[in-house]
Amino acid sequence: MPGHERGGLLEATLFTNVSIFDGSGSAPFAGEVLVRGSRIVGVGRPGQPPLPRAGAQVVDGGGATLMPGLVEAHAHLSWPSSVERFVPGMSLPPDDLLLNTARNARILLDHGFTSAYSAGSLGVTVETSLKAHIDSGGMPGPRLVPSSIERAPPVSDASLDAGQAIAHGGGPEAIKAFVRHCAGIGAKAVKFMLSGESALKPGASHQLLYTEDEIRAAGEQARESDVWLTGHAHCKDAIKLGLKHGFRVLYHCTYADPEALDMLEARRDGIFVGPTIGIVQATLDAQPPPHMDMTDMKADAAIVLEHQMRLVPELRKRGIRVVPGGDYGFPFNPNGRNARDLELFVRHFGYTPTEALVAATRLGGEIMGMAGELGQIKTGFLADLLLVQGDPTQDVSLLQDRHRLLAIIKDGRFHKAPAIRPWS
Ligand SMILES: [Zn+2]
Repeated sequence: MPGHERGGLLEATLFTNVSIFDGSGSAPFAGEVLVRGSRIVGVGRPGQPPLPRAGAQVVDGGGATLMPGLVEAHAHLSWPSSVERFVPGMSLPPDDLLLNTARNARILLDHGFTSAYSAGSLGVTVETSLKAHIDSGGMPGPRLVPSSIERAPPVSDASLDAGQAIAHGGGPEAIKAFVRHCAGIGAKAVKFMLSGESALKPGASHQLLYTEDEIRAAGEQARESDVWLTGHAHCKDAIKLGLKHGFRVLYHCTYADPEALDMLEARRDGIFVGPTIGIVQATLDAQPPPHMDMTDMKADAAIVLEHQMRLVPELRKRGIRVVPGGDYGFPFNPNGRNARDLELFVRHFGYTPTEALVAATRLGGEIMGMAGELGQIKTGFLADLLLVQGDPTQDVSLLQDRHRLLAIIKDGRFHKAPAIRPWS
């Protein structure tokens, strides 16, 4: 393939004869997109003169849809299972864990996810190391906001416990030390289990796991260390304290009461909510082997779904940013199936396919901290693009079929290249 070196005009690629879904929420339009280096440098619309072709390799999309790459807002790259590899539990030997995490990064990119916001890792530095390898061009994977190990008090049944906490004491000073440690190793998103998780321990979702002094300490240290706080927060007090002390991302929010909703709305420009519907649906759908009892998990998932079907439309009505990303990496909810969240937004939360796509693209750029340059097809934006066979604004579930992804472009480079013919 010509023009693959950095620098020089040959780097330009023109996507022509494509239907452009630009991530803004506007209807798709026939047009063309010019990429030079890592950026989109032109978007051609109907009735406008054609974009300059000189020196560009031309990709004739044949009417396929060109859209921004997807953003996974609740990524667990280190969680073992993927569509390529079933792992019964949640643990792997250390070397296998490292390689498997890198493999999962490639799998997400193969499935159209050009960015991932981590919701916690099973290794202390695996994600920060992986990010360095990806960003330097050495390994395939999405743009990554990396995390370290989720901080959670130990649980009794550890078989599906992903919150393998670093040994820690309680109290504000221990919390601050943890945040400083994460910042020191290069983690950007620091994850706390503010509430428990009923799927792992019945009733735990209603328990607040930290004191307000501890949560305040996390907020203070995060501001000082310039990292973002992410909270696993089912119960209303976890949501409220997370909001009060500057958490940027709150997952689940299942039991938000009217006061919590008001507080979310008041902070809507500074907060993202990820309902993580993927794991909920996967739990309901799972047909576990006889030795594995998922009765409690399934009962809890049914309750969570019922709450979230009311919660998410209310969040949207209040202008709160809701992002897809569903705890993929469990044996019954493998990495690589991430695009299923979009279909579930449509099925359960009343989204149109276009609205679900906006949540995974434009809002995805915002949660990555790259609003203004990521998540849309606009001049000056980074060229993270998918060429999709079919129209995902009509049927968003087709994004779950990776064979429909004719091309995957990240940072202006093909991760997956289509058949290319020179423009003439
Ligand atoms: Zn998670």
